[in-house]
Amino acid sequence: MKFGGTSMGSAERMQVAARIIAEQSRVRPVLVVVSAMSKVTDLLLDTLHRAELGDRTAVDASIQSLLEKHLQACTQLFTVASGTGSFQEEAWSKVEALVAEFKRITNGIFMLGERPPRSVDEALSVGERLSAALLATLLNATGTKAEGVNAAEVIVTDAVFGNASPQAEPTRQRCRERLTPLLTKGIVPVVTGFNGATSDGRPTTLGRGGSDFSASILAAALDAAELWIWTDVDGIMTADPRLVSDVAVLDQVTYAEAAELAYNGAKVLHPRTLAPLAEKHIPVWSKNSFALDKPGTRIVSSFDEPRGVRAVTSMSDVVLVSMEPASAVLSGTRVMARSLDALALANVEVLVFSSSSYRQSFCFLIRKHDLNSALGALGSNLSIELAHGYLKPIEVDENVGLLAVVGEGMRGLPGLAGRVFTAISRERINIIAIAQGSSEITIGIVVRLDGLERAVRAVHAECHLGQPHLAAQLQ
Ligand code: ASP
Ligand code: MG
Repeated sequence: MKFGGTSMGSAERMQVAARIIAEQSRVRPVLVVVSAMSKVTDLLLDTLHRAELGDRTAVDASIQSLLEKHLQACTQLFTVASGTGSFQEEAWSKVEALVAEFKRITNGIFMLGERPPRSVDEALSVGERLSAALLATLLNATGTKAEGVNAAEVIVTDAVFGNASPQAEPTRQRCRERLTPLLTKGIVPVVTGFNGATSDGRPTTLGRGGSDFSASILAAALDAAELWIWTDVDGIMTADPRLVSDVAVLDQVTYAEAAELAYNGAKVLHPRTLAPLAEKHIPVWSKNSFALDKPGTRIVSSFDEPRGVRAVTSMSDVVLVSMEPASAVLSGTRVMARSLDALALANVEVLVFSSSSYRQSFCFLIRKHDLNSALGALGSNLSIELAHGYLKPIEVDENVGLLAVVGEGMRGLPGLAGRVFTAISRERINIIAIAQGSSEITIGIVVRLDGLERAVRAVHAECHLGQPHLAAQLQ
């Protein structure tokens, strides 16, 4: 089970988590992965940034509030009245020690005037280590045997600090050594989400929101029967409820659908979560720790389900980059190859890529925060072609948004794309670029930013997504 930031957000939420864990661990072995308390990772990152800038007052204030937040949870969780007073001291000293560790790294950054990536990763893991320590102590205090475990001991990764990838075999080995014995003894391991370490012990993190990924890495390494991801929403929805009023919670989706939804902007799962599980067919539940009566969404390899669109997502923090050879002397295919290579080397993810036309112009969509590195990489890779005018100047359009229509059931269903496009054009929204892969599971549609939300509503209504059980017949 993985508990996200809001599910660990306060003493009260931790008590709910502890009750869920206690109940389930009576019927089967349970391993727990936790995020930092909500907003803590942002606070840590901001503190490190201020340390780099040399702002001592701000750094001290942030560290103080980090300490207070966790000590407050500590006093609320362990009280003489509830008979857990003696655990308070234990939790208290763990919190103090971890905050002191964070402070030590911050001081180093302060003196250097620089944030070395591995120190950032080490410092960020403190958020999860704090919440794991609190939850493990709470479980012990309330009669469920538990042990806090730093994922740096069990998740082995490459050395891409800030966005590391796991190495399956060494991780499996470490899990067998460190976690299986706990599980066999009936002790619940409470493992930190988000972090890991290289095989020679250098601390890493898996990217923002990476605790979901941590949980799936461990589930795969230990051949778990199921993975339950506890969040603050009822499951995977047919659209973003902030944009569409009649969204529905899907009772089942496939791994491929969930991955496409996450990748195209749905916030419910970290996009890398499903890969380790799909191979082993480990089912995932997305559940709401604030509404225990709701069943949640089940994510599985495949199931017999109505055909058609399942959900629609959108992303607004994106830009469209267009490139076009100025003369036929230059092979368009070659320019595409070199551009994509430059983007890959600069770690820029291409969300949509589209090319057609005799002139071999092409465009691609990337995240706004990747724009500078993308332009830098393209500029240096194609500097001669640009300088000599073989290639027209690169165009950037920031006034765009991406809408993605997702559903495995779209495969081989003629007419659906037409209906989606008609629904969008009925709203007088101009479609700028389109991409559909041959797997037919996602159609990516780039539209003007001011039409994005209306387009999402139009597609949701057109495909009757608010009534998932009727949608297939109506589509
Ligand atoms: N605490 C980390 C973050 O905020 C990881 C996570 O929450 O999944 O990015
Ligand atoms: Mg989170």
